[in-house]
Amino acid sequence: MAIERLRNFVRAFTGLVGEDLPEAALLARGKALLATLVAADDWLPEEFARHDPERYRQYLLHCDPAERFSVVSFVWGPGQRTPVHDHTVWGLIGMLRGEERSLRFERRAEGGALAEGALTVLRPGMVEAVSPAIGDIHRVENGLTDRPSISIHVYGANIGAVRRHVFDPATGAATDFVSGYSSAVTPNLWDRFEETRNRA
Ligand code: FE
Repeated sequence: MAIERLRNFVRAFTGLVGEDLPEAALLARGKALLATLVAADDWLPEEFARHDPERYRQYLLHCDPAERFSVVSFVWGPGQRTPVHDHTVWGLIGMLRGEERSLRFERRAEGGALAEGALTVLRPGMVEAVSPAIGDIHRVENGLTDRPSISIHVYGANIGAVRRHVFDPATGAATDFVSGYSSAVTPNLWDRFEETRNRA
């Protein structure tokens, strides 16, 4: 099976974004596709599952040629966490391995410190959504202190190139950032040698 699962996901998601659905419908259908992808943990190549003891890694797995969506493996070392940040585009987070905790924040109308929202604990197979329309600010951490965790993220843009924000939750102050990616290469989705030969 291996990489075929990711190839099938990319193909299905490409079709989905081509339907030009309203965001809520796109997220509902996208959630189901991502849930299918993370239902099995036998396809992510080892190079895109490696953690770094210094900081969490974001490996690009695929970017749509028109940059309508991107797929990333987010690899957490034990105890690692993000700053409080936003995305500015819709995002889907599917848990592949381990555990992830996402704490929501909201800006207050009067400004100042961010308001703390709900805590979500993701376990393998679960999928969460973010977007400016439904809540876009959170802080995410590995829920495990003794092992790496991995989640698969899908965003409504080439996320590594999006100018977005990190926040100081105590003051609400926002700073621009662009995340980039942790690797210069993506997985080869298109080597179909084995399946073609086996079909002969
Ligand atoms: Fe995030």
